[in-house]
Amino acid sequence: MALLEVEEIRTHYGAIEALKGISLTVEEGEVVTLIGSNGAGKSTTLRSISGLTPASAGKISFGGEDITRVPAHHIVEYGIALAPEGRHCFPRMTVRENLDLGAHHRRGPEIAEDLEKVYELFPRLRERERQKAGTMSGGEQQMLAIGRALMARPRLLMLDEPSMGIAPILVQRIYQTIGEINRSGVAILLVEQNANYALDAARRGYVLETGRVVLANDSAALRNDPEVQRAYLGT
Ligand code: ATP
Repeated sequence: MALLEVEEIRTHYGAIEALKGISLTVEEGEVVTLIGSNGAGKSTTLRSISGLTPASAGKISFGGEDITRVPAHHIVEYGIALAPEGRHCFPRMTVRENLDLGAHHRRGPEIAEDLEKVYELFPRLRERERQKAGTMSGGEQQMLAIGRALMARPRLLMLDEPSMGIAPILVQRIYQTIGEINRSGVAILLVEQNANYALDAARRGYVLETGRVVLANDSAALRNDPEVQRAYLGT
């Protein structure tokens, strides 16, 4: 049984059907990517898993439990954390306060351990602990969004476009850290428009087009697929 199993979900924004029957799995400890153009449904897939935009049909299971109708404010208790696109840090709160929010549902001494781990992964955040999040660069806010998600101690971390709007040097740093997070045992579902980064980081991937999965394979095979190369790798 996979850690995450998404079966034939359909998701709507009013009358618009954004997901037209998406199925995918993520195994324990795996990195899996969703690639596709603007509007393909990548973010909506993550939003449906996290309960922000619930699926209207189909089923989502996590660790064997049906989570299809679990609301967003409870999903984190199941072990799923989302670092959303556009980062969504609280700009007037400090770095430390933003991180503390990631652990708001937890109690106990492990929270301090996790804070230390986040600071080890992203030393920049420790340096900026008392700084207001809104005054940091885009890359630093991206680190903060990932750090905040990790403060939930998730079994599955979902990342929506971690490279978006960030200088290449910081993107590299963020991707190194994604590797470290995964090696510590956290499964990762990664949404990227930059298929190069995504296929380097992931073991397997799904290609989405207009709300459907059109290809699913391991990363090496996707890299060699002429259609993927033409549409998403710019080769
Ligand atoms: P992007 O990289 O642009 O975010 P995506 O693959 O993540 O692309 P989604 O954001 O999931 O795509 O969008 C899927 C479809 O749902 C698109 O047709 C989009 O226009 C539509 N959509 C997304 N959000 C909304 C919304 N809040 N209201 C109405 N339609 C929406």
